[in-house]
Amino acid sequence: MSGHQPATVPGDHLDVVIVGGGPSGLLQLHHLREAGLSVRLYEQGEGVGGSWYWCRYPGCRFDSESYTYAYTFSEELLKEWDFRELYSARADTERYFNHVADEFGLRADIRLGAEVTSAVYDDAAATWSLGFADGSRATCSILVTAVGHLSAAYAPDIAGIEDFRGTWLHTGRWPADGVDLAGKRVGVIGTGASGVQLVTSIASEVGHLSVFQRTATYCVPLRNKAITAEYMDELRSRYDEIFETCSTTPTAFPYAAAYGPAMEYSAQERHEVYERLWQEPGYKKWLAGFSDTMKPGPANEDYAEFVRGKIRERLGSPELVEKLVPYDHPFGAKRIPCEDGYYEVFNQSNVDLVDVRANPITHLVAEGAVTADGVLHELDVLVFATGYDAFTGALTTLDFRGSGGLTLQEKFRDGPRSYLGVMSAGFPNWFNVTAPGNFVRGLEPLVEWVTRCIAHVLQGGHRSIEAEQGAEDAWIERINSANELRLQARADSYFTGANIPGKARGVLTSPDSVPDGVAMRNEVAADGYRGFRLG
Ligand code: NAP
Repeated sequence: MSGHQPATVPGDHLDVVIVGGGPSGLLQLHHLREAGLSVRLYEQGEGVGGSWYWCRYPGCRFDSESYTYAYTFSEELLKEWDFRELYSARADTERYFNHVADEFGLRADIRLGAEVTSAVYDDAAATWSLGFADGSRATCSILVTAVGHLSAAYAPDIAGIEDFRGTWLHTGRWPADGVDLAGKRVGVIGTGASGVQLVTSIASEVGHLSVFQRTATYCVPLRNKAITAEYMDELRSRYDEIFETCSTTPTAFPYAAAYGPAMEYSAQERHEVYERLWQEPGYKKWLAGFSDTMKPGPANEDYAEFVRGKIRERLGSPELVEKLVPYDHPFGAKRIPCEDGYYEVFNQSNVDLVDVRANPITHLVAEGAVTADGVLHELDVLVFATGYDAFTGALTTLDFRGSGGLTLQEKFRDGPRSYLGVMSAGFPNWFNVTAPGNFVRGLEPLVEWVTRCIAHVLQGGHRSIEAEQGAEDAWIERINSANELRLQARADSYFTGANIPGKARGVLTSPDSVPDGVAMRNEVAADGYRGFRLG
């Protein structure tokens, strides 16, 4: 934190502290300020934007419709901000959040480069005490964590990393001044959404590219395009309708299934729908088709086979088909990367696809990575596109202690526990904000609910609010049994915690549709915050 204002000044006490300056934290800051509360946001990065600040790897781009990322709290903002592409490049999204921070004067209450290392609840005072990497401290009545569900970068432990003479880095911690990859021998471990974007973007620039793939994924064409001035005007004229649609669809995207169960249609009818939607951009291909495509069962397998056919068509050899066509998990059980030219990369002569399921990397040596078959893959740069300790990693790595000294690690040992997804019993006055569904669309109603709840507590003369254990237990039991039936339970991925050695397994996203989540929270609030204990 050198060179910054100190995170705090002695005796500093705030109504609310927000940790995290991404889309959630900024919105939460704005609303809490509007509610008249004293609030400060701490962000460990040197800029706002969260993932859009950190993930500076080449090719990083949004795969949800850019205009659905717009905050709607200000007519002025909606009027003045033009989205440039249907799916925004990272830097454009980062620019948007910087613009919001500037336009709404948020920076006055933001401290950048402020890394929170501990959060400890004081039962007697009903306050949180925060510790920072620079040794300073702050206290607050209410703590809101808005740390992002994909922010704790994960890289597997590979023996010999200290011997590697090249550069190694993670997609989620890409240096701000970039990395020169031109003509270099580059290795990329991981073929999730980050790896797919990176590989596609750098393949023609690097000297040689080794893509270390453990699991083939179903990648689908993004079909990005520029948003012209006329198109932007048209979108703007339909904003109300678009946002209204998003507030009614299960995943908060501007479209939903247009047809009933797939297998009630003939094979030809299904194929016609698949083909027509395949030409559409983004997620429409699978969300706007049949109602059960994204549920385990024959409809899902039918669509998976269609996608496999599309992948096969683009590959230049049976060996590539063998390696790149996925069979070991259902379509959508892992997140589906959207791409633009990914498969064609493997037809290039300077690109090798290394199957690290068959031959894992055993260790690194000075010259590169050695796989189990004894082959040395010579590298100048090794990129870990190996994902994140999702949902909980950014919290459980803090010294986080609730009532009576209960640690969050202990509380979350068998998986995260919450009531309504926002508060945990034993951790009074702590709200965790993680948006469900299409990000900003799912986020806005959540942040507004949290704002109303915090105002109700602090302006209603209460000292504390805490989820009741019984309400949390019932919530978790319902969530867990619903989650067992979901597609996401059918694969090893960050959705289930299976990507992190030793992490408890269980689907970590909500089984509720976004509108159902909104309705449940509103109903709880209308019922006097049922399931919460106010102190
Ligand atoms: P990810 O989806 O978790 O993918 C990680 C990749 O690394 C997987 O291919 C995984 O293989 C591989 N991997 C992990 N550990 C490995 C090991 N020890 N050896 C070999 N391979 C290993 O992570 P991500 O690609 O960073 O994406 C995370 C999420 O960020 C996305 O799903 C998405 O939600 C978000 N994101 C969004 C965008 C966008 O908007 N377009 C772009 C990038 C990221 P296995 O499959 O075998 O585990």
